[in-house]
Amino acid sequence: MERFLLKNIDSPDSAGIGEYLRTGGYASLKKAFGMEPADIIAEVKAAGLRGRGGAGFPTGMKWDFASRDPKFPKYLICNADEGEPGTFKDRPILEKNPHLLIEGMVISAYALKSERGYIYLRGEYPHARAVLDKAIAEAYEAGFLGGDVAGSGFRFDLSVHQGAGAYICGEETALIDSIEGRRGQPRIKPPFPVNVGAWGKPTVVNNVETLANIPLIVSMGAGRYSEIGNPECPGPKLFSVSCCVERPGVYELPMGIPLREIIYEHAGGVRGGRELKAVIPGGISTPVLTPDVLDCPMDFVNLPKRGSMLGSGAVMVFDDTVCLVRVCWRAMRFFEHESCGKCTPCREGTGWMRNILERMEGGFGRDGDIELLQDIARSIMGKTFCPLGDGAAGVVLGFLRNFSDEFMYHITNKKCLAESG
Ligand code: SF4
Repeated sequence: MERFLLKNIDSPDSAGIGEYLRTGGYASLKKAFGMEPADIIAEVKAAGLRGRGGAGFPTGMKWDFASRDPKFPKYLICNADEGEPGTFKDRPILEKNPHLLIEGMVISAYALKSERGYIYLRGEYPHARAVLDKAIAEAYEAGFLGGDVAGSGFRFDLSVHQGAGAYICGEETALIDSIEGRRGQPRIKPPFPVNVGAWGKPTVVNNVETLANIPLIVSMGAGRYSEIGNPECPGPKLFSVSCCVERPGVYELPMGIPLREIIYEHAGGVRGGRELKAVIPGGISTPVLTPDVLDCPMDFVNLPKRGSMLGSGAVMVFDDTVCLVRVCWRAMRFFEHESCGKCTPCREGTGWMRNILERMEGGFGRDGDIELLQDIARSIMGKTFCPLGDGAAGVVLGFLRNFSDEFMYHITNKKCLAESG
């Protein structure tokens, strides 16, 4: 497939405005200024773009809610807090194609009638910070940001706000709290940020990849765009592939591509030709799958039918040397550490589950531990403020649903079934 989002990133100058303009950059912005803001929102809706951050919410619908709210000012925030283990798909855009993101943000802001934008950047992305700051300065100098964008009379100011390493600030309401200068903790919804967001004003929070799709939709038109990938949730998709594959990396592929094709054709297959044991399809908070679902299309529609989710599109591949009890335990260490502590089931439950998995992994598992884990996970599911709690519970339930034999082996034999255990 032709690359759109990662076009030209192999060029050493890909992050510079000169290279971006040379390859047709900012042409979509000029086209957008010839359209009414409402028509751009209609185009994004017709294109069927769904948010690429994980939840898959229809972008045009989110924009519609914010644009209908009469309150001003309105804010546009790019969620670049890419902290989900296994996920590094936004990084090439941030570091190598930042003007695509800036162009997408200016078009989005024009559609939303927003004059102020922020890029909320992951704290551990220092290189991306430097690249973005330079790209923003270039865009101001070239007149694509500021008081009169490209001579249109439209004003849009943009700056980077860097996080401090908390995973929870990738949740949109915690992110807004952090931008406001408070401790980043999720807010109760409703009200949703599209109506009551940053400083109580309508705020649209979109992921990096989502915003990077906007220039493409404007230039191609919704009709041609929606021919890419699965008609139910079309467009190009970035997949970050990691763990036991020959060629880990970020791949731009059509939405709906079968998992098998990603692993075996693009990522070069399982490392050393070993047997595939398990796949996490969308980042650590999406339930693990068994190899018999390799032909499942990778999109927001089909993965839920197989008991998992597309999430951020972070494909984590495990071969037969990997101990899945260890993977599950390490995932739970992450969730326990990153739980913000606001609600009891998540704050306490992630620690309890980590504790049980730790003793199981260390050869001290007890009869009844599997049932206990399931009980705790079910007591968390659906009872927390934000998706972190559900994600942690879903991970445990997914492993126990598909690999309970391996967990039972650990308890019974006090050791691991896999070679690396
Ligand atoms: Fe915080 Fe966890 Fe509750 Fe989310 S689910 S608000 S991370 S305690």
